[in-house]
Amino acid sequence: MDLYVLDAEIFGLESALSSTEELPRLEILVQLAWHLRQRDCQQALCLIKEAEDLLKALSKTLKNPASTLTRIALIRAEIQWLYGDLDLAKQDANLAFNLSEECGDFISLGDTYFLFSSIHRDLGEIQQRDQCLQAAKEHYLDAGDLLRTQVALARQLHNSAIRDPQNTLTELHQHFNVELDYHPSVVAWLASARAIIANKIGDMGESCRLHIQAHAAALETGQIRQSILAATNAADSFATLGDMNAALEWDEIALGYARENQWPSSLAIALLQTGNALRLLGRHEEAKEKLIEALNNQIKIPRSRTYAHTLAYLGDLSLDLGKPDEALRFFEQAAERIENHNEPVFLSDCWRGQAIAYCRLDLVNEAHEKICQALNIAREHHNIDEQIKCLRVYAELARKNPDFHNNSLQIESQAPNLCLHYQLEALALCQSIKGINIPADLLDHIADSYALIADFQSAFHYSRLAAKAKDNRRLHEAHNRAIAMQVRYENARHRADAEYHRKIATSEAERAASLQEASNTLETLGLIGRELTANLDVESVFEALHRHVNDLLDATSFGISLLEPDGDTLRFVFGIENGVPIPCFETALDHPISSFARCARERQEIVLEREPGATGRFIIPGTVATLSLLYTPLMIGERLLGVMSIQSTRAHVYGERERSILRTLAAYGAIALDNASAYKQLQLTLTALRETQNQLEEVSITDPLTGLRNRRFLLQNIESDVARALRAYEDQMHNPNELMNHPADSDIVFFMVDLDHFKSVNDTYGHACGDMVLMQMRDRLQSVFRESDYLVRWGGEEFLVVARTCNRKDAALVAERIRQVVADTTFKLLDDVEISRTCSVGYASFPFLPMQPHLVTWAQVVNFADQGLYLVKKSGRNACIGIIHTSLVQPEDFYSRVMRHPQQAAQSGLISIASHRTDDLDDTIHAS
Ligand code: GH3
Ligand code: MG
Ligand code: MG
Repeated sequence: MDLYVLDAEIFGLESALSSTEELPRLEILVQLAWHLRQRDCQQALCLIKEAEDLLKALSKTLKNPASTLTRIALIRAEIQWLYGDLDLAKQDANLAFNLSEECGDFISLGDTYFLFSSIHRDLGEIQQRDQCLQAAKEHYLDAGDLLRTQVALARQLHNSAIRDPQNTLTELHQHFNVELDYHPSVVAWLASARAIIANKIGDMGESCRLHIQAHAAALETGQIRQSILAATNAADSFATLGDMNAALEWDEIALGYARENQWPSSLAIALLQTGNALRLLGRHEEAKEKLIEALNNQIKIPRSRTYAHTLAYLGDLSLDLGKPDEALRFFEQAAERIENHNEPVFLSDCWRGQAIAYCRLDLVNEAHEKICQALNIAREHHNIDEQIKCLRVYAELARKNPDFHNNSLQIESQAPNLCLHYQLEALALCQSIKGINIPADLLDHIADSYALIADFQSAFHYSRLAAKAKDNRRLHEAHNRAIAMQVRYENARHRADAEYHRKIATSEAERAASLQEASNTLETLGLIGRELTANLDVESVFEALHRHVNDLLDATSFGISLLEPDGDTLRFVFGIENGVPIPCFETALDHPISSFARCARERQEIVLEREPGATGRFIIPGTVATLSLLYTPLMIGERLLGVMSIQSTRAHVYGERERSILRTLAAYGAIALDNASAYKQLQLTLTALRETQNQLEEVSITDPLTGLRNRRFLLQNIESDVARALRAYEDQMHNPNELMNHPADSDIVFFMVDLDHFKSVNDTYGHACGDMVLMQMRDRLQSVFRESDYLVRWGGEEFLVVARTCNRKDAALVAERIRQVVADTTFKLLDDVEISRTCSVGYASFPFLPMQPHLVTWAQVVNFADQGLYLVKKSGRNACIGIIHTSLVQPEDFYSRVMRHPQQAAQSGLISIASHRTDDLDDTIHAS
């Protein structure tokens, strides 16, 4: 994660955030919060809150949360630092420190040190500030992060520039080539360092320019606090140039950002500079107000450098106001606070202030002591400007106290008195500085001093020099103002350029965001399309369309009308308004004001905007009067299926984007509805076909006269019964203990039933009466057999009954029961004629041979039953004969032998023929 990024990247992160979830979202949340930490503290805090919640939710899947936690702690710490909550900031920074040390993350460690440096700065702990920044730089170097290393280095130069401009400049040139373009995050500090140096060496125009450059670079990389500082510094340099308008303008800029953020340190710096500019303009009361406000804003950071500066400025103001005692207290406090800041020049400044105050209070010794200390420092640090100021204080002291004697100075001067000595020394120092304007008031003071000792020639000489200096000063001031104007002009142009680029960047970002959104929408629509067209149920298509419309568009109501098959009517088939269904209704296609009808007729999209309260429009009864209405035809190629509409109670909600979404939904919807109705038609046809097929099937296996089953039915169904019976017998054979018993109810008994002398019925009563007998024969059979048995019309007046899951022992009894039922009940013919008829029954069981179940097939068993019937007919009719197996093991040609000569076969014990009448039935059954 970069230390600072450009604004353009923030747009990118913001738009990326809207479309991510879970882990990727967590990463972007933290990244965005990190880069918003100074740009928008509150937003950054909201984002890390969400990130923390997400972190909890993802705790199981997230392998290493340490780096995320570190970043969150750092964001929080930095925001606390900005708000001046330095203890809390330290706590979180310590947390970040421990976490990043734990996972050996050099970058995070460096960032933590970088922040610690800021915290120490506000605590007035200058040594720690520098140590931490050094540590940050070293960690960045170790991590191989060039950009961060450059930022740290530039910040170090910014820090040292105030204290030691000369060496800082040398160092700056060692590390940076000022001709090159560096990343704005570096420029924010590098330009600032160069600006401070330019200020110190008196190149105020350059200083202004560089401060403004630093301000802009800091701003666009989200270093808002540094940008505020750079703006106040620019103001300071403009003030030095004498362009107070520009100074106040830049103070105003700084104050604007500071007030917006309510960061105490930034606010104090901005107020302090504004106060000082107002003091220089002689607007003392306003100056005091601003300086006091600056002090009040620093309650949380009383040991900061800014606090000391505020006090010193208040001291200057008090001197201007002629209140030396008040000034003394301010300077004393300032000096006390600045002592550990390692800023000797500032300290000398405070002491000089004290000396002036003492002097004005006529406390000569105290004044002397302080000015002596101040001058020593100024000399130690070769600060000529400060030396001149000190010497002038000395001069003031000497002038006010003719007895004043400076023991500490070795005076080897030709000056007529001490006052003039200091004044001339100051003048000599001034003259040693190339290009400096000698202060006119110093020359005036020298002239005065000569006049006092009646050296009028010298007095005149210096007066003329003073006059010349004043001219020069005016020239110089004009020159300065020209420089200032130039800087202001350049800056205005720069700002216009920057604004232009920012606008381009913003519109680019917006374009990218809308492209992203469009592609997201396309993707969503694609998914919706697939879902819709996979639906084969009309109602589900309606519901899916409604759901997606609600997700994507502003729709108070949603409705679909479909064209009826007559082509003249629209039927409103689905509608929902505010979650409540709209009842169905019909509209003629030529309806004069229905927009559904118009859209269907014109086959074109219609967008309508209604004025609230407009009359003369068609409103579906019971629905609200909407203001924005959109109608889209549902078409498949040239074929119109209906119309889909969305409406909103809000005005002007359907722009091009909304219309294209609905158009796409309508296209998918039409396909889906067409599919669904085709599918429905197909289902209906299939059902009808299936029914017909079933009916045909039924017909094909049913005898048309009696409604009984036919041979075809038997062929289709008998195999499974045969298989079941065989399985039962085979199981039995594999169980030796059960060998002697037949499996219960596993037999299939075939009964062949034939009406006796049926032909005579036809002959006597006609064919129709014969048919009636056959139909009544069906009733009789049904009364004897179970529902599960198959009743088959085998031939003209011949029936085959298949008794399934039956016991062969009961066969004789059942056969006899049929015979009896037929013989005992009369058949009713037309005209109430009743006749009696008998029948003959032959039967046989499958498997025919229980011990050799596969030897005789079911069809052969049917033939055995037929054989039995034949025997009955031969023996005189109205009787039952069963062909029964014996206990012998039978040869392979068993079947043909039985069929050829049943009687012989019976005699040779291949089969037994069970012939019986009611009277001898019991015996027969037992015999079999
Ligand atoms: P038997 O006792 O030997 O069975 O004599 P029968 O007259 O019943 O047998 P036969 O085979 O000589 O005659 C069967 C008659 O059944 C011949 C035919 O006209 C008649 N028949 C066959 N199908 C139908 C039918 O669907 N309706 C009517 N009414 N008569 C039919
Ligand atoms: Mg017959
Ligand atoms: Mg017959």
